[in-house]
Amino acid sequence: MTHRSTNILTLLILVGLVAGALFGEFGLFATGTVVDGDHWLKAAGDLVLIRPLKLLVVPLIFFSVISGISRIGDPSKLGKVGGATLVYYLATMFMAVSLGTLLVTWISPGVLQASVQEELIGTAHVIGATQGAANDLGSAWMNILYQLIPVNILDDMVKVQPLGIIVFAIAFGLALAAGGDKTKAARDICNACFEGLMILVRWIIWLTPIGVFFLVAWTVGKIGFDSIKGPLGMYMVTVLVGLAVHGFLVLPLVLYLFSRKNPYQFMWQMKRALMTAVGTDSSSATLPVTIDTAENEGGCSKRAANFVLPLGATINMDGTALYEAVAVVFLFQLFGIELEFGQLVIVVITATLAAIGAAGIPSAGLVTMVIVISAVNMNLTGSATGPLPIAAIGIIIGVDRILDMCRTAVNVWGDAVGAKIITKLAPDD
Ligand code: ASP
Repeated sequence: MTHRSTNILTLLILVGLVAGALFGEFGLFATGTVVDGDHWLKAAGDLVLIRPLKLLVVPLIFFSVISGISRIGDPSKLGKVGGATLVYYLATMFMAVSLGTLLVTWISPGVLQASVQEELIGTAHVIGATQGAANDLGSAWMNILYQLIPVNILDDMVKVQPLGIIVFAIAFGLALAAGGDKTKAARDICNACFEGLMILVRWIIWLTPIGVFFLVAWTVGKIGFDSIKGPLGMYMVTVLVGLAVHGFLVLPLVLYLFSRKNPYQFMWQMKRALMTAVGTDSSSATLPVTIDTAENEGGCSKRAANFVLPLGATINMDGTALYEAVAVVFLFQLFGIELEFGQLVIVVITATLAAIGAAGIPSAGLVTMVIVISAVNMNLTGSATGPLPIAAIGIIIGVDRILDMCRTAVNVWGDAVGAKIITKLAPDD
């Protein structure tokens, strides 16, 4: 893409975001056009943007990782790059989650007037709990381990389980690199398939402005900016302040320390991916755009980006980790339980785990939060179900989408910073 068309596309996405927000706030939504099942705005956004992007995710992860790994080639270098990537993911998620825990303990958004507190707690039972997550720590670990050691790669592809695909692609990429001349043809084919997919990505991303318009209109129409003023307002503000500090201060500082480059210039170069993350609520659907932007505008090497970004979209979620910590401590506060230091440490560890386990799809963080609540409950009473009922998650479901937009952007930003740092270790020659 030329520089000019990139600028036009970025501008169109921005227009889509703003117009969507205005349309949602003042537009048709107010006149009650919600239908059974999906609202038409959401359905349109899914058709125009989410489905086409998701279509690319599995083949893109597969070929991108193989091509990145076989480009790095030398196994000892690969070990260094892989190790540094994992350390980066864990360290930044740990920083995010600690920041969230500090903020929520300090601001105490859940300590409200008794009447407001009771009213909010009442809504939990009306809305009901989020189901479907592994709800204890042991099964959370096992779940991740099972995903890491897949038995049938096609099954993982069909179920879109990225971890298994990545593990296989890493192993296969290593083998192709080790094979020298004998496997050169396969390496070339994988590289060419990756390039072909990226051309497809560049076609599809022209749909981003329209898709983002529909999706943001739906989100804002459904929830509205007014919710920030309501009783859940301080909770939302706490999450947003935490995300802002992490995204605008902590990650830029980390990037500066390791690369000595201007981090805000890099953030500006990554804006297309960040806006797509806001619009889609999904780091996984944004992945094709993240790879394209990081390589073509952000100056990340193919070697680093092809490997760090797909893996990051799956396991590196700074925004989600921070959000989970704030949300869980907030809910405990609402139920009148002040967590002690030891319990806050449990929150920090399990929220990191829950963020790693969360898929890069909308509201995934809300579901894996069950792990954190159960772990703290176990510590408090020896039983996963009390004293904070899992159904309490229902209290924050209503405002989750807006927070999801912001934490997804921080998730994608964290991946991009990782790719930029690892570019130093693995530059393209
Ligand atoms: N929507 C987030 C993402 O895709 C995950 C979450 O926090 O719900 O990165």
